[in-house]
Amino acid sequence: MPSMLDAVVVGAGPNGLTAAVELARRGHSVAVYEAKDTIGGGARTEELTLPGFRHDPCSAAHPLGIGSPAFRELPLDRYGLEWLHAPLPMAHPFPDGTAAVLSRSVAETALSFGPRDAGAYRRLVAPFLGKWDSLARDFMSLPLSALPRDPVTLARFGLTGLQPSSWLLRERFRDDRARALFAGLVAHVMAPLGGIATSAVGLVFALAAHANGWPVARGGSQSISDALAGYLKDLGAAVHTDYEVKRLDDLPPARAYVFDTSPTALARIAGLGGAYDHYRYGAGVFKIDYALDGPVPWAAQEARRAGTVQVGASSRAIARALHQASRTDQAPDSPFLITVQPTLADPSRAPEGKHVFWAYGHVPNSWTGDLTDAIEGQLERFAPGFRDRVLARATAGPPELARRNANYVGGDIACGAASGLQLLLRPKLSLRPYNTRHPAVFLCSSATPPGPGVHGMPGHNAAKAVWRHLRSTS
Ligand SMILES: Cc1cc2nc3c(=O)[nH]c(=O)nc-3n(C[C@H](O)[C@H](O)[C@H](O)COP(=O)(O)OP(=O)(O)OC[C@H]3O[C@@H](n4cnc5c(N)ncnc54)[C@H](O)[C@@H]3O)c2cc1C
Repeated sequence: MPSMLDAVVVGAGPNGLTAAVELARRGHSVAVYEAKDTIGGGARTEELTLPGFRHDPCSAAHPLGIGSPAFRELPLDRYGLEWLHAPLPMAHPFPDGTAAVLSRSVAETALSFGPRDAGAYRRLVAPFLGKWDSLARDFMSLPLSALPRDPVTLARFGLTGLQPSSWLLRERFRDDRARALFAGLVAHVMAPLGGIATSAVGLVFALAAHANGWPVARGGSQSISDALAGYLKDLGAAVHTDYEVKRLDDLPPARAYVFDTSPTALARIAGLGGAYDHYRYGAGVFKIDYALDGPVPWAAQEARRAGTVQVGASSRAIARALHQASRTDQAPDSPFLITVQPTLADPSRAPEGKHVFWAYGHVPNSWTGDLTDAIEGQLERFAPGFRDRVLARATAGPPELARRNANYVGGDIACGAASGLQLLLRPKLSLRPYNTRHPAVFLCSSATPPGPGVHGMPGHNAAKAVWRHLRSTS
């Protein structure tokens, strides 16, 4: 190892690993330091319940991973990453036993919304179909680090996407099937439906389904992290685990320090004072990983074929649950649930005939209660007999999630509230969000644009800011 490294990365989550790869493949000397004994952050896989049941404790469904401009440039398939698809990307069942779906096919999706809204959905997505590659690159590089590839489509996307989703849903759709499914999409980043630019969140998830699907990674989300780390090691970089960084002095001398941490931890470790005191954390989640004796007995047939299933009776019920979790200190009695059934696409995750399954609901930040009964009450309502299939469960509320990963401050899995301007402009109002007041210190976590999800784009974008610094100081 050289006596002075070009860059040290703190945290081996998808963004830290992507930033490290981007720097190493341009010839820079890099080392990564991870607090936990395994790499991956929010992209890990573990036997959390019973032997032979491989659970993703955090991310499992990867609409943004498969469509990530950063991941697509890397040879991750050569390092074992393979995307597997359930027959349907996503389903949203209703209490009457029917479901709306998000399918690869726009026609199937539109039809599931009913005759009054099918045309409206087609018109909403039509301008963007077939344009995922340029749109994702332009949108996920905001604030722009290069000229947009397709400025017209980006501007059109901005005009629709900047609207609060509550307006878009009221104006475009007449029935609740489309409204509930779309409201659920916005809830994936825990954004309030009335927030500016929340239409963009729903649109991105819908367009991702039509462009590439919502796959899982063969063997579990850990294989995304392992592929990034495998490539990184072949590029000559070192990855150190079990090494929690508490002060800059804990790290070897380097020309740049890149933090895949929360802004709060970054300020503490790098001595940046109150630089991020204004930064807000959002609602937490309560998550349950299940080992099941068989598939989830959803009443709606479509949900039995979907990799991801949203559970929320109506758009109003979803809005109420989100409001309770983010604006009160009470957990919702009927939580909106996001659930993933990885074994539909990847039976290798569980012994033959058995399944892994996860569900989470939103709760107030730092909430210490137990949401198991409320979550299972919702599941029983949409999948009668669910409890009889449970062989084992592992629960994690905000304190446990924060123990597993310091970035989930108070159980906020988005590493910062996705509300107000902070949805787009994070961690501060700046055209250089990856830079800090220390010229050699950078932030690359999901607290920077384009925000949460396993897509590596914050790491990719931050690496560009680091190259500029390395070039100007060499
Ligand atoms: C329950 C749950 C479900 C999710 N579901 C999905 C999903 O289905 N699809 C999806 O795309 N996204 C999902 N996400 C979100 C996704 O996991 C995150 O947005 C993503 O992992 C963020 O990547 P990151 O690299 O910014 O941070 P992280 O993945 O959080 O990684 C940060 C890493 O830094 C390490 N670290 C922190 N502080 C220090 C320190 N001081 N010293 C050394 N190391 C440190 C941590 O241990 C961690 O390994 C989910 C998250 C959770 C928790």
